Amino acid sequence: MYEPQKIEKEILEFWEKNKIFEKSLEKNKEKKPYIFYDGPPFATGMPHYGHILGSVTKDVYGRFWTMKGRYVRRIWGWDCHGLPIENIAEKGLGINSRDEIEKMGIKKFNDYCRSKVLEYAGAWKEVVKRIGRWVDMENSYKTMDNEYIESVWWAFKQLWEKGYIYEGEKILMYCPRCSTPLAKAEIAMDNSYKNIKEDSIVVKFKLKPEKKFNNNVYALAWTTTPWTLPSNLALTVNPDLEYVYLRDKSDKNVYLLAKKLINNFFKNPEEYEILEEIKGRKLEGKEYEPLFDYFKNNKNSFKFLLGNFVTAEDGTGIVHTAPAFGEDDYAICKKYKIEMAQPVDDKGKFTKEVKDFQGKFVHDSNKEIIEFLKKSGKIVLIKKIEHEYPFCYRCETKLLYRAIPAWFVDIQKIKPKLLKISQKINWHPEFLKEGRVKYTIETAPDWNISRNRY
Ligand SMILES: [Zn+2]
Repeated sequence: MYEPQKIEKEILEFWEKNKIFEKSLEKNKEKKPYIFYDGPPFATGMPHYGHILGSVTKDVYGRFWTMKGRYVRRIWGWDCHGLPIENIAEKGLGINSRDEIEKMGIKKFNDYCRSKVLEYAGAWKEVVKRIGRWVDMENSYKTMDNEYIESVWWAFKQLWEKGYIYEGEKILMYCPRCSTPLAKAEIAMDNSYKNIKEDSIVVKFKLKPEKKFNNNVYALAWTTTPWTLPSNLALTVNPDLEYVYLRDKSDKNVYLLAKKLINNFFKNPEEYEILEEIKGRKLEGKEYEPLFDYFKNNKNSFKFLLGNFVTAEDGTGIVHTAPAFGEDDYAICKKYKIEMAQPVDDKGKFTKEVKDFQGKFVHDSNKEIIEFLKKSGKIVLIKKIEHEYPFCYRCETKLLYRAIPAWFVDIQKIKPKLLKISQKINWHPEFLKEGRVKYTIETAPDWNISRNRY
């Protein structure tokens, strides 16, 4: 009977006993090197099929170029930094916030991390050997070695001296539990998005009175994140969209919304009367009364802005705009020189400016904010909707957008060079070169390298 398991094990034993890998290196030692860069895995979890597939592919290259007569040095590494180990340490220590880490002392916390970081190294060694990969695991490097850390600082210094580093503020996806922003790639992972059911609401913003309508006039805006309403500073409309002022025959109020979306609110034309049609661009600068009084003196706020990102696909065609909690919101408010308001702290809780909800975790405050607005008659519609929402892949907390001071690598500056170099790379399959790789570089934003951890 053919027993592949048995044969494989015999071969592994033969390689080990006769030091075949070492000999394959020794024999080409004086030959031209083939440089092999390998991203080190975290030793903070067990190896899985994803690692194994990658590992086998990597092994093929080393062996191939060795057979072609090149010297291919292969040394294993361990990635020791960042949240994977910190989350394990926090669990082990029974703590769960930055405050607690600082209270116990950063050195003590880091020492504990260091003691746990190679917990699964033994299991890794077994698996890597079993799949037949040739790599030197005995002399492995660790990213927590000072020698390694210094090389990272050296690289950072090169970037700094070339003018590729800047400090800025960006709207980033943020985990309020880990108290850290997440990179786009960390949110694009399979397990980041989940379908959730939430209340979405349509709110009415009272416009400054206009004689011609002799009734109360309100702009309607839709949101799936009621907790951002206390930070509302503007309403944005699309300059090219048609809007209407219409009178609701039942309550006699006049409402402003996109013409295309009237059907979202009225079942038949008997229920309302159109008073005026108006292009979005003519609404620019129109003033309204703030929903809450928290930021009533904020500079240049509570006016209509024009933004091409506004669509008439859902909602009302009028976008509630809070610069601290959305990328488009931030950009448009910057353009109109609206003063920033950021009333949420690094743990996702309202600060004292939002006095009615101070200390409340934003994701838990939606219901109360809806109640609050309902009491003051500012809500038109509450509707449960199901939509995809991103969660922290490390701790499964609901993420939020937040304005964060951060250091960036200026990718725009080096983009032309990246594109040029990419042309010389032998991509497989070949269409990647003009396809995904080129697109990824062309659309890459600046790289946020700040991490607010230990
Ligand atoms: Zn998290």
